[in-house]
Amino acid sequence: MNHRIDIAIIGAGPQALTLVTHLLQKKPSLRSRIQVFDPSGTWMAQWRRQFAAQEIPYLRSPGVHHPDPKQTLFNFADRRQAELHLPYNRPGTQLFHDFCETVIDRWQLRDLVKAAQIVQLSPLRSTRFRLRLDNSQQVEARRVVIATGGGSAQFPRWVTQVNAHRSDRLCHAQEIALPQLPNLAGETVLIIGSGQSSAHLALGAVKRGARVLMMARRTLNEKLFDAEPGWLGPKYLKGFQAESDWQVRLQMIQKARNGVSIAPELLSQLRRLSRSGQVAFYENCQVSRATWQGETWQVECRQSDVHECLAHQPMDRIWLATGTETDISAHPLMGEVLTQYPNQLVNGLPVLDEHLRWPGCDLFLMGPWAALQVGPVARNLHGGRMACDRIVPALTKATLARTVSH
Ligand SMILES: Cc1cc2nc3c(=O)[nH]c(=O)nc-3n(C[C@H](O)[C@H](O)[C@H](O)COP(=O)(O)OP(=O)(O)OC[C@H]3O[C@@H](n4cnc5c(N)ncnc54)[C@H](O)[C@@H]3O)c2cc1C
Repeated sequence: MNHRIDIAIIGAGPQALTLVTHLLQKKPSLRSRIQVFDPSGTWMAQWRRQFAAQEIPYLRSPGVHHPDPKQTLFNFADRRQAELHLPYNRPGTQLFHDFCETVIDRWQLRDLVKAAQIVQLSPLRSTRFRLRLDNSQQVEARRVVIATGGGSAQFPRWVTQVNAHRSDRLCHAQEIALPQLPNLAGETVLIIGSGQSSAHLALGAVKRGARVLMMARRTLNEKLFDAEPGWLGPKYLKGFQAESDWQVRLQMIQKARNGVSIAPELLSQLRRLSRSGQVAFYENCQVSRATWQGETWQVECRQSDVHECLAHQPMDRIWLATGTETDISAHPLMGEVLTQYPNQLVNGLPVLDEHLRWPGCDLFLMGPWAALQVGPVARNLHGGRMACDRIVPALTKATLARTVSH
């Protein structure tokens, strides 16, 4: 393995794949200077895992969003029209997977991914980074891109106070793999959260015979996409990018996402199931305490006057579809960077330059960490494309390289 590389990309998900295809399109000679790191050693492993774990039949995003800068998914899907789901031709999970495999082959990217987790990122002077791999190897890179996807699981505070460690009976959505669950007939599952994952998990639990209680801090929010399509182009982004106050930008992001949401067809399925009693909704409600008693959870909620009945319903399982951590200072690789290059954070999101570069060093951030520049869809497939528009010029044009002061 080359121990000195030019561009190190950490993570081999769809955002990293999008970046590499766009980099090579712009400058094919970069191929030998890029190294991608992912524990799986393959592209899109985490993406595939999460779709399989939640048995997601098709994407939430339209088929125009994918990692290839040249080919369209629709040409590829010519004979597979049935796998494009209306409205907006949302691709089936297998169709999207097969298309991405052709992207990886067409751009000859299979060998680019090294099977390794990066466990430490250390800036060396202002011109290099040292990356420590989980096998204790070390690599030096001139430029680094963090494309590690969403943060780690976010837990409600009451979870730290539960009286028993039952990881099989109280787990975060990231830890659940529906296909590996036993038959849940006769069980009651409490699912906390009101995003798309809560809906997929609820449907999966009902399919296995469980009765599901869905608890949301707010009223369930029905939306086709997690942010309005106006956020994919100038309609909303023009005003967003013209805003110089980062705090206001944060508010714009929060307003655009309006909390989390569930696609209409999923919510309709859940509402149908609620009519037959297989699903019950507890909206505007939060757990205050859960106690393991015998073989079930006893749950109290903050609005026990409104939902007193919850206290009398033992839960066999609690699933937390409570999202991921979006504070960059909690990112396991950012400790030394934050110490050596302190930066302004707005509610945990970093203020990056227009090329998504961390001020003072050649570290670029994609995914949720780029939200203050890219906007509310930063974590999605299209956010990856928008991040590329900013990062690729900085990695390919000498004139946009950072000025290094010695
Ligand atoms: C269930 C689910 C469904 C979704 N559906 C859609 C959808 O339909 N459309 C859409 O646009 N978005 C969707 N999203 C949002 C989705 O997260 C992103 O589109 C996509 O996964 C983001 O790609 P990514 O490359 O940033 O992250 P990921 O796909 O998570 O890839 C990041 C990779 O980085 C690796 N990694 C992490 N840390 C390290 C490290 N220290 N060293 C080396 N490698 C590391 C991980 O192993 C992983 O393989 C969905 C999200 C979820 C959870």
